[in-house]
Amino acid sequence: MKSACEIAVIGGGLSGLAAASVLNETKKDVLLLEAAPRLGGRIHSVSHPETGKPMADLGPTWVWPPYQPSISKWLEILGLELFPQYETGPAVLDLQVGVSPRHQPLPGQQGMARIANGPRALIDALSTQLMPEQVKLHHKLLSVSRKSGQFVLKLEDPDDVEITATSVIVCAPLRLMAQDVDWNGLLDAQTLAIMRAAPTWMVAQTKVSILYGRPFWREQGLSGRIASHLGPLSEVHDHCSSDGEFSALFGFVGWPDRYSDQDQLRAAIEEQLVRCFGAQASNFDRMEIQDWSADPLICSNLDRETSAQHPQVLPSVIKNGFHQNQLQFGVAETANDHPGLIDGALEAGERAARRLLSNSV
Ligand SMILES: Cc1cc2nc3c(=O)[nH]c(=O)nc-3n(C[C@H](O)[C@H](O)[C@H](O)COP(=O)(O)OP(=O)(O)OC[C@H]3O[C@@H](n4cnc5c(N)ncnc54)[C@H](O)[C@@H]3O)c2cc1C
Repeated sequence: MKSACEIAVIGGGLSGLAAASVLNETKKDVLLLEAAPRLGGRIHSVSHPETGKPMADLGPTWVWPPYQPSISKWLEILGLELFPQYETGPAVLDLQVGVSPRHQPLPGQQGMARIANGPRALIDALSTQLMPEQVKLHHKLLSVSRKSGQFVLKLEDPDDVEITATSVIVCAPLRLMAQDVDWNGLLDAQTLAIMRAAPTWMVAQTKVSILYGRPFWREQGLSGRIASHLGPLSEVHDHCSSDGEFSALFGFVGWPDRYSDQDQLRAAIEEQLVRCFGAQASNFDRMEIQDWSADPLICSNLDRETSAQHPQVLPSVIKNGFHQNQLQFGVAETANDHPGLIDGALEAGERAARRLLSNSV
């Protein structure tokens, strides 16, 4: 295992991969350190058991290209395609106990689109730009200190490795970085307070993807959308793949505390889908439940304990860089536009990498 590099990128989600991809345009010696056993972070999908192809999203799904220049730029660079969210036909309104759900058209969101093969296509495309030896999975950052003008990174891995780096870009959630990493005085109290005050977008959510043999709701003339006050899913959307290979619905669990375990939740979701779409809804092939609040590499204690808030644009001090700009933060929540979103992750990762490069040339 290498014990030194020029630039260490902490976190192998979309922002970390975007940062590493920009740095790789130069001849810099870059190492990406990711705590989890996979790349992608909040971008995650149900994979086909044989081909590994993404079948349905468990993290983000939508982008808004007319308003999001970073995603538009990166989709073009990576040769990825968009397709519209299916919204043909009425939605099912599931609002009152004892009253049958009714059908009603609901407006779609202006500019909203999906990426062919899901946001995981971004992760797959960006990770192929890195050499295998540049990516270290199962490498959780524990502490950062400074010695002889270098950063010393302590990592939890099977051998408790120490790596020295001239520069570091942190692309992991700010609240977790304040909670889990010992900075040995390298960050002041004001900066740590800004990090703790920055909610990690969507990480208290539970997302559910349900895969079917056929999009039977489309055959009934329905959009696949449900708006519910009864739950467990507060909203459901059509989630079929662009090429028609996979038929799916996805939804968010509105009231997770009502269910004592996943079996109970699963049974209640099936009951809701049958109530809204009829008996065919129980003939699903797979139901995958992703509770992000249970992932300690994504969701901090503060995210779990406080009510979810949309991330605000953070004070510039967190984006300006520390220690002669050699320490940068580039996670999605640090973006200038659309913080916390896919677009923000691309913008922030790229910004952090370019600031570092402009500093070192
Ligand atoms: C359910 C859900 C739905 C969403 N829907 C949308 C949507 O429709 N549209 C949209 O634009 N955005 C959406 N988002 C937000 C979007 O997923 C994020 O903006 C984006 O994925 C953030 O990427 P990131 O790389 O900045 O951070 P992350 O994906 O959080 O990546 C951070 C990485 O750091 C790693 N890490 C953590 N701690 C350490 C450590 N100590 N050492 C090393 N590595 C560490 C983590 O394992 C992770 O891989 C959604 C998010 C969720 C959870």
